[in-house]
Amino acid sequence: MFCRKNEELQAFVYEAKKVTKDGNVADYIPALGRANVEDLSIAISYPDGHCVFAGDIIEKMTLQSISKIISLAMVLIENGPDAVFEKVGMEPTGDPFNSIARLESMVPSKPLNPMINAGALVVTHLISGESVAARLEKLLKFIRKMANNSAISFNEEVAKSEYDTADLNRSLCYFLKQHHLIDENIDDLIDLYTKQCAIELNCLDLARIGLVFAMNGVDPITGEERMPPSIAKICKTFMVTCGMYNASGEFAIKIGIPAKSGVSGGIMAAVPGKFGIGIYGPSLDKKGNSIAGIALLEHLSKKYQLSMF
Ligand code: GLU
Repeated sequence: MFCRKNEELQAFVYEAKKVTKDGNVADYIPALGRANVEDLSIAISYPDGHCVFAGDIIEKMTLQSISKIISLAMVLIENGPDAVFEKVGMEPTGDPFNSIARLESMVPSKPLNPMINAGALVVTHLISGESVAARLEKLLKFIRKMANNSAISFNEEVAKSEYDTADLNRSLCYFLKQHHLIDENIDDLIDLYTKQCAIELNCLDLARIGLVFAMNGVDPITGEERMPPSIAKICKTFMVTCGMYNASGEFAIKIGIPAKSGVSGGIMAAVPGKFGIGIYGPSLDKKGNSIAGIALLEHLSKKYQLSMF
C-alpha cells in the first residue's frame, strides 16, 4: 500500500496534541501505564489503495476494546445474528464499559450490548475451537486478513498484565456463568479475552480495518469480501450507538462517524463509502477515549463534513 506523510494532517495533529496534557494514560492494566502521554498519530486508508498519515504510525498499540467489534464480526459470521443476540443485547448503556450493575438489574440477565465488557466476554466465549490457542489463532487470522498484514500478533506482556489484574472481568464471567450465558472454564475465557485485547497493531492496520467496515465488508484494495454487508452494517451500527463508551451520543452529535475506541488510546473509524481511519493517542479523557484522537476527529469531521447525519 502506498502511504505518504501529509503536511496538512501533520498540522492538525500538532494542534490536537495540545490537549494530551488534559488526559491520562490508562494504568489499571499496569503495562499500559508506560505509554507516552504525548503520542498522537493518524493514518487514513482510501479505497483506491493510497493512504496518508501523520505522526509515528509505525508505533504499535494493543487493540483493547477495539477488538470487541472485530470479534463480534467474526462470531456473527460463524453463528449468525440470531444465535449471538440470544445471549447479548443491542441496546446502548450510559454505564462505564466494565460496569456490573445492569447485569443484576436486567431481567432476564443479559448484557445490554457486545461493546461493554459483559457483552464482549459473551462474544469471546462464542469463538469456537479446541483450545484457547486455536480460538485466538482463528481471531488473529481474521484480523490479519482485515488489516492485510500477516505479521499481526499479540503482546504477551500486556496480556499477562491484564490477566493478573482482571478481577472485575472475572466477576462478570462468574455472573454470566451463573446465568447460563457462558459455560466454559473462566480462567480460559479470561486468558482468551486478555490475549484478544492485547492483539497489537499500528494506525495503518487500524485504518485498513476501518476501510473494510466503511466499504460494507469488502476490502476495496484486494476486492475480497471479509464479511457479508449485513454484518458490516450491524457492526457499524454498534460503533455509532456504543463504540465510544458512554460518550457515544456526544460523539455521534459532534463527529457523526462510526468508530470504536480502546483504553490503549486507539480509535478505528469508518467513514461510510469513503475511507478508514486509524488513530493512536494514549492520553485518555474521563470516559476512556483518546482525548487528542477525539479532538482530531472532530476537526476533520467539521472541516470535511464527514458526519453521516
Ligand atoms: N482489556 C480491557 C478491559 O476489558 C479493554 C477495555 C477497553 O479498551 O475499554 O478492561
